[in-house]
Amino acid sequence: MRMEDERKKITEYGKLLKSSGLTNGTSGNLSILDKTLGLVAISPSGMDYEEVTPIDVVITDLDGNIVDGHRKPSSELDLHISIYKTKKDAVSIVHTHSMYCTTFASLHIPLHAVHYLIANTGTDNVPVVDYKTYGTKELAVGVSEAMEKYNAVLMANHGMVCCGTSIKDAINIAQTCEWIAKLQWNCFCIGQPHILSAMQIEDVLEKFTSYGQGGTGSKGYTVG
Ligand SMILES: [Zn+2]
Repeated sequence: MRMEDERKKITEYGKLLKSSGLTNGTSGNLSILDKTLGLVAISPSGMDYEEVTPIDVVITDLDGNIVDGHRKPSSELDLHISIYKTKKDAVSIVHTHSMYCTTFASLHIPLHAVHYLIANTGTDNVPVVDYKTYGTKELAVGVSEAMEKYNAVLMANHGMVCCGTSIKDAINIAQTCEWIAKLQWNCFCIGQPHILSAMQIEDVLEKFTSYGQGGTGSKGYTVG
């Protein structure tokens, strides 16, 4: 079985996506890129995360050809591949229809810096990318272009997608986006939140470089 370690991580973190409430049923998908091999391990289409085992994970090349696996790959395979081609430091991608992110995606309202932890995404906002039909090349192109500047974006009337330097990093960014979205929703229920400036988020990003135990490659806090 090729890319056994990555396949195990896709099954393990897929279950985490579900248990942490970021997805339910079969929605959302996740992948890991092996840069050396130029191959992607991606979750299968339409399977409950609880039922996915490493053999169900599909291995494709960066042209979308299946090189190992007996399942159909996620319907958003083009989206994942386009992001990997655009975003050279991306090693893992997570896409969810998590409730609060999807709420703002459906309102076409970006996630703002209502809390300093938005810095986990690498910037002071998470923009909304124009609506395109799911699973299309048009959606893949629009999102991957936006992600040249961002590690996370909202997909209008659809959900959220983010990338990280590891699957752990990508999941943490997905959890951060959902936490920020929930906080922003709470703020809007009461009034207008004060939004931190880009400069204030820059200061947080600077502090993140020395946060924690160091040497692990992790950045910022975890919210999950
Ligand atoms: Zn989707």
